[in-house]
Amino acid sequence: MTCDQINLRIDAVLDGDEAWTSDARAHLDTCSRCQSRVALAQGINRWLPQLPVDTPPATFTSGVMARVRRERWRAEQALDAGFNVAIAAGLLLIVAGVAGLAWSSGLIVVGADVVALMREAIAVTGAEIAPQLPTYSVAALLLTMGLGVWWWTEHANFER
Ligand SMILES: [Zn+2]
Repeated sequence: MTCDQINLRIDAVLDGDEAWTSDARAHLDTCSRCQSRVALAQGINRWLPQLPVDTPPATFTSGVMARVRRERWRAEQALDAGFNVAIAAGLLLIVAGVAGLAWSSGLIVVGADVVALMREAIAVTGAEIAPQLPTYSVAALLLTMGLGVWWWTEHANFER
């Protein structure tokens, strides 16, 4: 048995998990270095339990967890802000690209014509609807009343 093999087993033997083999005992009887190591380990084992144990305050765990949550939340906020900025920049780039493409290909001129066409369509539709507005109003009133009666029969309690 070598000094290294003894050294590896000192803790286990002192803790009671193992016992010295006859080979180990024979080595320990003749090796002053291993004897001093065993004596040092025994001294440490006697000394450690006498050390005062600091107990953390009762709020230690909750305080640490609150701090962890706060820092995690801040990190997520920073990540979200960066993500939003990236998305906004991407959208801006897309809009600028589409606008640039439309402008360079002459679509913007057609766009102005389309807006004028839509205005004209709205004006014509309004002119056609205006004479029949009382009919539409009465129809809307009847529909609203019908829906109201339906809602009332669905939600009213008739079991009294
Ligand atoms: Zn030894």
